[in-house]
Parts: sequence; structure tokens; C-alpha cells
Amino acid sequence: MTTPASTAPDAILHDVFGYSAFRGAQAEIVDHVIAGGDALVLMPTGGGKSLCFQVPAIARHRREQGVAVVVSPLIALMHDQVGALEEAGVHAAFLNSSLTLDEVQRIEREMMGGRLVLLYVAPERLTTPRMLAQLDSLEERGLLSLFAIDEAHCVSQWGHDFREDYLALNVLHERYPGVPRIALTATADDLTRADIIERLSLHEARVFISSFDRPNIRYAVVEKDDARKQLLRFIQDEHEGEAGIVYCQSRKKVDETAAWLSSEGLTALAYHAGLDADVRRKHQDRFLREEAIVMVATIAFGMGIDKPDVRFVAHMDLPKNIEAYYQETGRAGRDGLPADAWMAYGLADVVNQRRMIDESPAAEEFKRGQRGKLDALLSLAEAHDCRRVRLLAYFGEESSPCAAYQNACDNCLNPPATWNATEAARKALSCIYRFHQNRGQRFGAGHLIDVLRGKVTDKVAQNGHESLSTFGIGADVSEAQWRVVLRQLIALGHLRTEGEYNTLELTAAARDVLRGDVQLLLRQPSDAPKRRGGTGKTTRGARTKDKAPPIPLDAAATARFEALKHWRAEVAREHNLPAYIVFHDATLAEMAQSMPDSLDALGAISGVGAKKLEAYGREILRVLGD
Ligand code: ADP
Ligand code: ZN
Repeated sequence: MTTPASTAPDAILHDVFGYSAFRGAQAEIVDHVIAGGDALVLMPTGGGKSLCFQVPAIARHRREQGVAVVVSPLIALMHDQVGALEEAGVHAAFLNSSLTLDEVQRIEREMMGGRLVLLYVAPERLTTPRMLAQLDSLEERGLLSLFAIDEAHCVSQWGHDFREDYLALNVLHERYPGVPRIALTATADDLTRADIIERLSLHEARVFISSFDRPNIRYAVVEKDDARKQLLRFIQDEHEGEAGIVYCQSRKKVDETAAWLSSEGLTALAYHAGLDADVRRKHQDRFLREEAIVMVATIAFGMGIDKPDVRFVAHMDLPKNIEAYYQETGRAGRDGLPADAWMAYGLADVVNQRRMIDESPAAEEFKRGQRGKLDALLSLAEAHDCRRVRLLAYFGEESSPCAAYQNACDNCLNPPATWNATEAARKALSCIYRFHQNRGQRFGAGHLIDVLRGKVTDKVAQNGHESLSTFGIGADVSEAQWRVVLRQLIALGHLRTEGEYNTLELTAAARDVLRGDVQLLLRQPSDAPKRRGGTGKTTRGARTKDKAPPIPLDAAATARFEALKHWRAEVAREHNLPAYIVFHDATLAEMAQSMPDSLDALGAISGVGAKKLEAYGREILRVLGD
């Protein structure tokens, strides 16, 4: 560019990043920080936090205000973040322990000369005497443009990612009160928020809270039948050739699931804390750099992974609570294109999670908190109404059912049939009560169902259960459906299981159902036989969904899309960067569809900034012309 570069945010957004408009609160945040204000930004994953400090950094640099310092806890990912900026023509660098002395000195020269636009550092490095002396010198010369503190929840002991080093960041406010600071996080709860403000002295900061809705994510929960097969079918039917994350609870299950998916022809890698650091790094690298990798992982995987085109996040086990579920599923679809949050859920999940809490050595008060969180999660899993409404409500946000969304949740897309299970539930609970009256005995679900359905087994005969008044009173409900009723009763807290054999026991809340104070409207299991003469009239239509590419393309355009991807892979390899940093899929798809025939037309496509147009424009036109 020959004309002096503009300092207007819109112009920067367009010329540098190739985007046409700011999203949500971005514009307001950017203006506020450019003007020198402090900010605390709460935005969901994928909401676009990076631009909130990158655009101000560029604007202030262009006004000769020097270097923006970005504090980030994830040394392993700095390389790619800086690579993305350099690809867009923004002079950026990182300082961390992976660099040689020569490299460090070169970067320090760029920084001290005020030439760098953004410098990424880990918190422990930022607060070294050497670094602080350098910052002092920059500040004296008016060349310290702003501080961005990413993953700001790391400063809070309430959060799960607490880092001691973050506490020392308070020095920034004390030492450089005139330099604007912007702290960013995707962790929403009030406690953490207050803690961030306190510990980073952000009392004067404007707080920007975005909606936590992720409209492009479809939430779906399926009933576990054969979970591995269900997972495979889900991936094959809906996400063939796409990248995704599969979360499992244990390391063992991670290894097994990854091996099994691999044996079925998918490229699945394992990630958990029991693997060598080398293996973990290699797997993470492949996930970021290659296409269509399925990462099977424990929750050790994910923080800071900003791969935009993760098309699905699957849970093979219940996550810990709704916060964890939202963080984990939030890693899907950062690019704004349709993505899936899929979970397989069954009775064993409920039983295991409850038992883990019951048997933990924690204080009773803590356990009560845990149970409350589990209950919230279970009612999300059992819900027959909009899951998005429930999720957002959990975070204190009111919303309407997402039926009109392009990517509506499973329940909005195919409203499940419900049935009034109050009578059935009362029958089951009173049968358990009778067992207990009768010699104080307890039994598991299998025997209970036999008795309810009036089946004369050896066990029934031995215990004289034929003579119970509840024998055979539930013959009109199928066995499969009884299991669902029991699971939901456990999930809702009216029943609990005990001991090695998971025998059933009434809770205090069972009384409400027995007395008829609580009506139970349960979701009709999709595959179970409908109740005779019941209310199960809705049949669930089979859903069909288009597979990749990100926008529907005809055959010729698909071929162009593939050719562009091929070209992109070569560039990415040459630059040692993940492909999505060169261009997102969505950008390539738009190129393939609209077939621009000039550099101007190409530059109008979202995601094509001036620098990339200059560097790659001609080649892209050639690939499209072939
Ligand atoms: P976060 O850090 O909040 O999880 P990112 O900053 O990584 O989110 O942004 C998510 C994705 O959205 C990125 O791929 C980014 O390029 C894209 N993005 C952000 N803001 C915009 C915008 N205004 N227009 C188009 N794409 C955007
Ligand atoms: Zn919905």
C-alpha cells in the first residue's frame, strides 16, 4: 500500500483481516481500547476475542504508539498465533523458552525500536526484571501501546486453570497506569469475574459481556445403546473427512476408542496426561496441521486450541458439569460454520457420576454443590425441550427456543414425543417400597422390571414377589421403556442406586411423586416401542444433513474447492503453519463458488486481506483458472 495506512478500525478489519464487519461487541470494545480505556471482555469461545486486542494494537501502532504486549499462558500455541498475524502482514513475535539467544536478541531489537506491533509473552517472562526494564524504557518513550491479558480467568483460584504466575500481572497496573489493559476470557461465572477485576485491579475497566449463545452449534444428546457404534455412525454419516474431538472420561477409554476408530478406517489420535509429552505434542500438531483428524482425549486436551474448523465435539461420557460441557463443546465451530455438539448418555453415566460424588472424601457441603451441578447437567440431558434455552439459562441468559436457527438443537429440530409417566413412575416407586417393607430387601432394575411386568422368574418365585400387590401392574410398559423411566427417575433424584449391584432405593424426593405432587413428563425414547394406546403419536423423521464443504457447492465448484485445498496444503507446509492460518475453508469455498476473475474481486471475499491478496492472489486465480 502506498497511501499511509488508515487507523480506522473498519479499515483495519477489512485491509488486514479481510473481514467486512465487526461481530457483536467487537466494534465497541475496539473503540474503547484504541481510545485508551481498560476493558474486561467476556465472550464465548469462537466469539472473536483476538480481534478485540489485535485491531487496537494495529491502530495504536499506526499512530506511533508502539508495541502491544499480549500475555498468554500457552507457549505451545504462540508460534501459530504469531504466524497467523505475520501471514496477514502484521509484524508480530513471541518470546518464550523455545527460542535461541540469537532469536531473542533479534526480537528484542525489533521491540525496543518500536517496530513490533504485537509481542506475545508468557506471564512468568513478562514479570522478569529484564523484561520490566525493557518495558520501562518503551513506556518512557511512549512506545508501549497496550497490554492484552488472554485467558484472564487463569488469575482466579476459583477457575480450574489457575496459574500462580498470573497473580504477578498486577504489577502492570501499578507500574504502567497510563497504558490501557484489556483482559479476555470465555469463563463466565460471577465469582471468577469479580476475582479477575480484583486481582488485576480492573476496577475502572469497562466490562463487556457478550451473549454466550453459539448459534452455529447444534446440541444433541442420544441415548446410549452401543456408544462406540453410535459414535462411528455419527462421524461417518455427518462428519466424514472432518476434524473433531471425542471426549472420554478415562485414559483407558481414550486409548481404546482411538484404537477402535482407527481400526474402522478413521484417523484417530489419542491425547491424555498419561502419554509422553512428545507424543502429546506430536498428536496436537497433527490435529492442528492435518485435515480430518479425530482427536480422542480426556479433558487434558483443549485449552487454547483455536483451530477454527473443528466440526464436532463428541462426549462419550458425561462431562463434569454444565460449565465443563460448554467449554468443551465450545471448541467446535469457531469459524461460525455449522458444527455439532453430540453426547451419548445412558443410565450407567448417571449411576457412575452419582457414585463418584457419594464416595469422594470431600466435605458434605462440597458434595452438595457437586450434586446440584450434576442434577443441572442431567436435566439438560433428559430435557425434551430446547437444550439451548436450558444451557443459556444456566449461565443466567434468557432466550427463546432455537427452532428457527439454521442449526437448531435436536429437540427443536425433531421435538421428541413425550408421555406422561407419572403413573408408571408411581408404580415403580411403590414396588420398590413394597420390596423394602417385605423383609427390608433391595433389588436392581432388572428384577424390579420383571416384577412390574409380571414375569415369573426364579428370583421372583424365590422371593415370593408374585404375591406383592405391585406384581404385574406395569405390564403395559415395555421393558426398554421401564429402563428409561428408571434412568430418568434417578437423573431427577427420585431414586438412587446403592452398592456393587446398583440396587434401587427411594430418596426423600420420591415421596413427592408417590403423593402425586409431581407430574413427570418424560421424553419418549426414539427406538423403544410406543406405549399401547399411549400418547406417542409423533414419529421422528430421519434427519438428513449435508456433509462438507462449508457451503453447498456443485460438482465443478467442489472440484475447485479441492484444488484450492491442495494448493493451501503446500503453502502451509512451506510456511510450517496449520492450513487454516493460510485461509479458512469458508474462504476457499467462497472462492470456489464465486470464481473471482480479478484481484479486486478476489479481495472482496471474506478472509482475504491486502497482504494475502498480494502474496497469493495471482496463484489463486491461476488455480481457479486451471
Ligand atoms: P476466541 O478467541 O474468542 O475463541 P477467535 O478470536 O479465535 O475467537 O475468533 C474465532 C474465529 O472467528 C476466528 O477464526 C476469527 O478469524 C473469526 N472472526 C472473528 N471476528 C470476526 C469478524 N468480525 N468477521 C469474520 N470473522 C471473524
Ligand atoms: Zn433448541
